[in-house]
Amino acid sequence: MRTISHFIGGKTVAGTSGRQGDVFDPNIGKVQARVDLGTVEELNHAVAVAKAAQVGWAALNPQRRARVMFELKRLIERDMDKLAHLLSSEHGKVISDAKGDIQRGLEVVEFACGIPHLLKGEYTEGAGPGIDVYSMRQPLGVVAGITPFNFPAMIPMWMFAPALACGNAFILKPSERDPSVPVALAELLLEAGLPEGVLNVVHGDKTVVDAILDHPDIRAVSFVGSSDIANYVYAKGAQNGKRMQCMGGAKNHGIILPDADLDQAVADIMGAAYGSAGERCMALPVVVPVGEATAEALRERLIAAAESLRVGVSTDPEAHYGPVVGAAHKARIEQYIQMGVDEGAELVLDGRGFKLQAHEDGFFLAPSLFDHVTADMKSYQDEIFGPVLQIVRAQTLEEAISLPSKHPYGNGVAIFTRNGDAAREFASTVEVGMVGINVPIPVPVAYHSFGGWKRSGFGDLNQYGMDGVRFYTRTKTVTQKWPKGGPVVDQSFVIPTMK
Ligand code: NAD
Repeated sequence: MRTISHFIGGKTVAGTSGRQGDVFDPNIGKVQARVDLGTVEELNHAVAVAKAAQVGWAALNPQRRARVMFELKRLIERDMDKLAHLLSSEHGKVISDAKGDIQRGLEVVEFACGIPHLLKGEYTEGAGPGIDVYSMRQPLGVVAGITPFNFPAMIPMWMFAPALACGNAFILKPSERDPSVPVALAELLLEAGLPEGVLNVVHGDKTVVDAILDHPDIRAVSFVGSSDIANYVYAKGAQNGKRMQCMGGAKNHGIILPDADLDQAVADIMGAAYGSAGERCMALPVVVPVGEATAEALRERLIAAAESLRVGVSTDPEAHYGPVVGAAHKARIEQYIQMGVDEGAELVLDGRGFKLQAHEDGFFLAPSLFDHVTADMKSYQDEIFGPVLQIVRAQTLEEAISLPSKHPYGNGVAIFTRNGDAAREFASTVEVGMVGINVPIPVPVAYHSFGGWKRSGFGDLNQYGMDGVRFYTRTKTVTQKWPKGGPVVDQSFVIPTMK
């Protein structure tokens, strides 16, 4: 049985806790590897290594740090197929989607290649008589990232690319469910020229997360995962004086106006609701048709489209999506389907009980579709995170907008329409952090930034883009004047002003 160990100081370090987590192949439902679950001492050791390595790394000029990012980009592109297969074998998403996972992280690496420009400070000449003011962005020191299972390549790269480029050392605590790709990325960073110890991977569960949150030398923590844990991590880290950025779960809505291009909208919704078996924080598990005629037309098309989807092993090039990540997660999704039935929603398509031939123990679910879901149902309010799509009917645009706005999550939302005025009103007023207009999964490009509202995001700054640079640096501002010689002309007991 393969063991996945920590990566500290540029080398593999075996765990000492005697505790390991199972890493499954979700296609066959069997354990394929075991991951070492770290201890407080192992985390402390990784931080000490990172702290020592950070000094020299930060002292390199930013162009040289950028060159490591350029080289990392080349190496990830070289290894794209290998990484995608590894990712897919532990997560269960299809290979093409696994490549998308890697690509969306790679785009943040590309952004980080511009770090010399992005780190430039500000300068004011003559802010007062003979006085100049300038500011600079300095790295924080050692920072950490805690990542979820559903994007094992993209989310670590969202975090470590800007953090490292800014001159920090990084501790990565990846999901224990699919930990191999994060280690592979750490190895590629070393090959790209990152000095040993600047990025360390410590595997684990709550023990390591708590040790990160308690460690006095870790200055900032970025977290992505479910909302209750995000809230806990945010509160504990902030209590300990750390800079915190914690992204949580989601329940994203797609609003369909009567004038939408319905065929295109249905095609978009299929990919957004069922792609990656619905295990995306920017999935679209709720559709809101406006008006009865739109609802009926949409329902008919959704049934036909969902019935034609192909569920298959993650290496099947024809499959639209693969298995979900684990048995417990599959059972949880099935419970939510039953809850929807018990709450009175109409289960139009039931994906439970699906068996893929020759892969009967794999964690597969066929598409489920609910109609007549209402806002008071728990199965609507909670994130299901599986291949389950819910139709919530609305009579007016105002009613449709109020659904995502009042929902406890506020990650992404989309509207499908040809009416620019309605779309503009929607984008301006909806209480959600990322908006798509005829775009089902509006994950912003790497030079903007990613972040949800309400229970989808705790903390101030978004992931990547300039917010990433701001998060991983602190601003120092210098006010200077130089002596001209001659008699003393200045003395004041009043707070200095520039009048
Ligand atoms: P999760 O919350 O179970 O785990 C996330 C991380 O927290 C993992 O590294 C895990 O080891 C750690 N963790 C788990 N339980 C913990 C505990 N009790 N104390 C401390 N740490 C703990 O999330 P997941 O199931 O891996 O990922 C799916 C979730 O992540 C979904 O809710 C999804 O919406 C969310 N997500 C959000 C975004 C976003 O940007 N908003 C992106 C991707 C995923």
